[in-house]
This record gives sequence, C-alpha cells and structure tokens, in this order.
Amino acid sequence: MEGLVMRSTGSWYEVFCDDQIYQCRVRGKLKLKGTKVTNPVAVGDLVTFEPEPENDKQGVITDILPRENYIIRKSHHKTSHGHILAANLDQAVCIVTLVFPKTSLGFIDRFLVAAEAFRIPALLVFNKKDLYGTEHLQQYEELKNIYEPLGYPCLLISAREEKELELFHQSLKSKKSLISGHSGVGKSTILNKLYPGLELKTSEVSTFADKGVHTTTFAEMFQLDQNTFVIDTPGIKELGLIDIEKEEISHFFPEMRDRFGECKFYNCQHLHEPGCAIREAVDNDEISVTRYYSYLSMMEDEDNRR
Ligand code: GDP
Ligand code: ZN
Repeated sequence: MEGLVMRSTGSWYEVFCDDQIYQCRVRGKLKLKGTKVTNPVAVGDLVTFEPEPENDKQGVITDILPRENYIIRKSHHKTSHGHILAANLDQAVCIVTLVFPKTSLGFIDRFLVAAEAFRIPALLVFNKKDLYGTEHLQQYEELKNIYEPLGYPCLLISAREEKELELFHQSLKSKKSLISGHSGVGKSTILNKLYPGLELKTSEVSTFADKGVHTTTFAEMFQLDQNTFVIDTPGIKELGLIDIEKEEISHFFPEMRDRFGECKFYNCQHLHEPGCAIREAVDNDEISVTRYYSYLSMMEDEDNRR
C-alpha cells in the first residue's frame, strides 16, 4: 500500500492512506540507504508499507518514493548528519505583517533564499490588512512590485475578512504547503478560521518575546481536506540557511542569478569589486536596494559563522 507520512516521533511514523492512519515502523535496512540523515523517513514522504497481519492499524514501511524536494538541516546531535524536516512540498508560505509586529524584510528575504535553495515555490501572505493605514498600504504595493516580478506572489489579507481569507484558502487547495511566520503574525488565527476543527493554539502578541525559540524537531502535517495538507513550522530556524556557502548565496536571489556572469570578475561577490553588474543594477533601481541589503547581511552572517 502507498501512503503519506503525516507525523513522526523518531521511531514511529503515522502514515495516511485511504482515510486511515497507520502507525508504521521502518524496516532496518531502509535506514542505511542514501545520504547521511538522522531520520530515514520524513513528514511529507510518500511511502509503500505493509500492514501488520495481526494488527490492522500498524504497518512496516518498505520503501520511500523519490522525493520532489526536501528541507534538511544539520542534526543537533550528529553534525555530519542532516535531519530532513519535510519532503515533497508544493509551496512554502511565509505569513508576514507590516504592523503589530512588523516583519522585517531581512526575515522575508532569508525565507525566500531558503525556499530557493530547497527549490520550493514561495508565497508571501501579508496579514492584518485591517490594521494598515494609507502608508502601510502604499508600502505593501511597493513590496508587491519588488517580489512579484521575482516570482513570489503576494497576497494581502486580514484574518477578520472572510473574502480575503478565501483568497488564501484557494492558494492552499490541493497542495502540500509549509506555513511559516514569526509568532504573532496570525498563523493560527488564519488556519483555525479556515479549518475550525484544527484548533491550533493562538498566541497573544505579548508572548512575542519568545519568537524563534521553538525546539520542535519533528514537523507535523495537518490534513485540511481531501488533498490539502499543511505543515506548520515556527520559522526561519527550520527553513534555515544552514548549508549554503557564501559564494552560493547570490544564486538564490533570482535577480542576481539572472545577471550571473555579467560582473567584471568571475568570482565577484558583489561587495566592492569594480565592474560589478549587481551594484550597477542597484544603482539603476533595477535591483531593489532592500534586497541588496538583505544579501549583504547574509554575507556578513556567513563571515561571522566562520
Ligand atoms: P501566530 O503566533 O502567528 O499563530 O499568531 P496568532 O494567530 O496567535 O495571532 C496573534 C494575534 O494577532 C492574536 O491576538 C490575533 O487575534 C491577532 N490577529 C491575527 N490576525 C489578525 C488580523 O488579520 N487582524 C487583526 N487586527 N488581528 C489579527
Ligand atoms: Zn558583482
């Protein structure tokens, strides 16, 4: 039988097949296959499994179907190993807001770079529209003009407006989506409104101080309807920059990737080198200066990590 891995505890996997959940284990030899990972099977994996003859709610996973993509990060315990957080995602959604609490452009751009690195299409959802003033609405238009031409659709919604929520609902339909965002942006409010049975815990903005300290190692997939699934992750830590070399960062900025080879020096890092096509494009307003700042900040972080 073929099923979808919805949840994992490390040794047991919940596999969804024909509207049923099977508790599955992995056959020993599967663990040795392929790259060095601490978890051989990840949430989002499509697997083949054999139900146990003596217990029809349990099974043994016999194979993993080839992955379309996957999110991996360095294992906490064995640094030479990776930990696969999720596989086969159709899109990565970043929920952000321009107010209360404003999401930084640096956060957004890091998210997008990670999505590029893992080859997952990204969608930006700007929430709390009802709290935006004229200035914020104008700022949204500016951001939309930056991100949409780069291939990142933007949606402006309020969790309090049915019609706007429905727009987001449509973009989730029949897909497996990773949903991310700083705590306080309205992730749980939105998902609970779309799917009342979900009952995700909402947080008050006052607990915003604990952003990013989540330590969940195993992602969890929720079924929203027949073919619609979401994986809720607390943030950029999960979709981290971990294994991107400094020299590669610009490959994950589409506007820089498009200009690959146009700089005077083949190994140009787009910092202070003469004849840099990227800096020229920034000066000519062909590349957004905020995107370029995010690039510089990521390059700096890499320096600090070495
Ligand atoms: P999460 O941490 O991303 O899951 O955020 P929550 O869903 O817990 O929302 C944080 C706070 O923002 C709560 O007090 C929500 O009621 C509020 N909130 C969420 N979405 C909206 C919105 O669109 N408009 C307004 N005004 N408040 C919102
Ligand atoms: Zn350059």
